[in-house]
Parts: sequence; structure tokens; C-alpha cells
Amino acid sequence: MNDFDVESEVRSYCRSWPVVFDTARGARLTDVDGRSYLDFFAGAGALNYGHNPPALKEPLLEYLGRDGITHGLDMYTVAKGEFLRTFEELVLRPRGLNYKVQFPGPTGANTVESALKLARKIAGRESIINFTHAFHGMTLGALSVTGNSMKRGGAGIPLVHATPMPFDNYFDGTVPDFLWLDRLLGDSGSGLNEPAGVIVETVQGEGGINPARIEWLQGLADLCRRHHILLIVDDVQMGVGRTGPFFSFEIAGIEPDIVCLSKSISGYGLPMALTLIKPEYDQWGPGEHNGTFRGNNPAFVTATAALREYWSDDALERSTLAKGERVEAALSELADSSQAVELTPKGRGLARGLSFSHPEMAAKTCAAAFERGLLMETAGPSDEVMKIMPPLTISDAELEEGLAVVGDAVRTVTEGVLA
Ligand SMILES: *Cc1c(COP(=O)(O)O)cnc(C)c1O
Repeated sequence: MNDFDVESEVRSYCRSWPVVFDTARGARLTDVDGRSYLDFFAGAGALNYGHNPPALKEPLLEYLGRDGITHGLDMYTVAKGEFLRTFEELVLRPRGLNYKVQFPGPTGANTVESALKLARKIAGRESIINFTHAFHGMTLGALSVTGNSMKRGGAGIPLVHATPMPFDNYFDGTVPDFLWLDRLLGDSGSGLNEPAGVIVETVQGEGGINPARIEWLQGLADLCRRHHILLIVDDVQMGVGRTGPFFSFEIAGIEPDIVCLSKSISGYGLPMALTLIKPEYDQWGPGEHNGTFRGNNPAFVTATAALREYWSDDALERSTLAKGERVEAALSELADSSQAVELTPKGRGLARGLSFSHPEMAAKTCAAAFERGLLMETAGPSDEVMKIMPPLTISDAELEEGLAVVGDAVRTVTEGVLA
């Protein structure tokens, strides 16, 4: 692997999967030795439609072939115009949602930073409420609202102006929702800095595939309304159909003030991000949140093609929910038959996880799966959750093939453990 010696120690995924990948199509990658791998990882949620989907690749190649604008800052371009019109027609209008669309820099952390800045500007306050086990990105603002102590430690300076509150079920269902937060907000002697906004994931991805219940999300939206706090939903990983509907918050019938989207919005793994803002809160001055790569036009082309291909009807949403139930059933079966090791299935849609009572076994299971030709990563504060996130477009046959590998890997690692 001499080519890679010069790469920084910060690299991580390649340590779990020490092969050189070359090509990929749909739910499969191929390495330089011609070995094929089934993908239960999907670019950490950036490849919801799989690798190199033909319905996106063709328009992209056509666009590049005719010298379409590649880099456009925030200039008006045909590709951006078509994306905005299509997003409005196929995503916002059918859902009765009214948002202005901001293009921040093209990553999840960028949209989160823009959302935090905007909330603070609108409210004229500094503090943000975040939740236990949250993940919002690796830049300083995004890290300040992230839970993981290892990642926070990388900041090297104090991470301030954020106050963590218990996410849904933090006390194992024994404490009424929002008891602590509601009490603090209503008590002028509580010492809580009055927050500008709340930032939340509907299903925590990196935090261990923890879904918030619908009632909890509705309760949070209601609390934000009562206390005049802006509600930011970070849908970077769970949006674009990962849990079934386009936006993960749709099932709760809530309308966040600000929504963060990135990972799968371009649909092709090309960098792109959006910050959706309720019109009355679009209080930016021109250039107040800037960035050189906000106009990644090839990403606009594939994003438009993806919306037309997958979001003109509800076929993808329905198949995602059905596949999610199939994964859930397979994980429940594994959990029921496990003897000494307690396995807990969790998740929503095609964001699924299996939590291990012996945390180190999750990574061992992922390693065993890799030996059998399947990519899967871990999540959770102790990496105790095996995370199953195939492309939404995976075929039923490939899903079964992958689940068989997962079952085999789980049994290999857990059997033989004495209670
Ligand atoms: C991945 C992720 C981010 C950060 O996105 P980057 O593109 O890595 O900066 C933010 N929020 C959530 C929920 C994520 O899953």
C-alpha cells in the first residue's frame, strides 16, 4: 500500500477496510483484485441511490460533455435554476412546505454552521440547545452541539454556547418528556442561558441509530413554539428518504424553522448541501455566509435528475419502508436467538442498527462481515452498534444476501460467549 503512506494518520475507514477500491455500481463495490463487496454502508448515507445510478450518470455526462458550468459560486446558472424549480415542484409543494433555499458550502458541517449562525442572528441570543449523543459535524460550531467526547476533544479549545438536554428515552422511559428542559425554561432562577434555537436529529445516526418517537418530536416542536425558540432539524443523514419519506420529520407532521440537508441530496456522492429556511427567518445579508464551492453545478444536475427519477411518486418511500421492515425482522430474529449476548435492534426505515451488550462485538461483527465481502460500520458512543444502511435502491435479492452475511457474522462473534 505504498501509495498511501503519505496520507495522514487521521484516515479511518480505510483502516477497517484495508483494500483498494476501484469501481462501484448500485450496491456493490469492486477492489483492484476484482473482489466484490456488498454495500451496507452507502457512503455513510451519501449514496441513498447506490453507486453511479444510470439515471443520474447520463445527465451528468451530457452536462460535462457540453461544457456546462462546473464552478459557479452563487451565480445564476441553468443547472441551479432547474434544481430549484424541481425541488420546489417535487419536494416542497407536494408536502405543503414553504422554505427559502440557501446553498451553504457543500458539506453537512457547512449547513449546520449556517443554521446555527442564522438562529443566533434572528434571536439575538448565543445559546443553542442540543441533545445527548447528537452528531452534527466536525467544525467548531457543529462540534459544540455534538456529544461524542473523542470528537469534541479534537477541537483543542473550549466548545461553548451549547447546552445538552436528554434525547428521547435517555432515562429509559422513566421520566416524562422534556420535564427538565421545560422546567428550566420556565424558571427565571434556573440559570439556563436563554436559547436561540434547538438542533435535533429525528434519528441519531452516528449516535447509535436512536429514533425519537413521533410524540417526542411533536412535543419538542410544541415546546419550541411556546418558548419562542427556533427549531432546527439536522436531516443531513436521515433526510432524502433514508427513513422512508423525503424528510425524516414528515411522520411527525412538524415544520421545523430551519432544515439542514446534505449527504444524499446530490444523489451521486457529489458534495452539495442545502439550508432550508422559513421565509420570515431568511434574514441573511448578501454574502453574510459565504463559500467558494456553494455552486457545485454538476451536483445540481445529478440532484435534479435524482428528484425526477425517485421523487415523482411514492414508490421509493414505500419500498424503503418495506425493506426496513425486512431488516428489522432479520435483526429481531438474531436478537431472539442470541443466548449470552444481549442484542437490541433499533432504527427506522432503512437506517437500522443492532446494539451489543458487549460493545466491542459490534466492530468484531463488522470485521467478520468484511471478511465475507460486506461493508458495514459501527455507531454509538462506545461503537456498540452495528449500523445497517444499504442503498435504498438495493434489490431484494441483494438485501437477503447481505442479511445472510450479517447473520453469519453475528453468530460467529456472539456464539461461544458464556453468560
Ligand atoms: C454526516 C453528518 C453531518 C456532517 O456532514 P459532513 O458532510 O461530514 O460535514 C452533520 N449532521 C449529521 C446528522 C450527519 O450525519
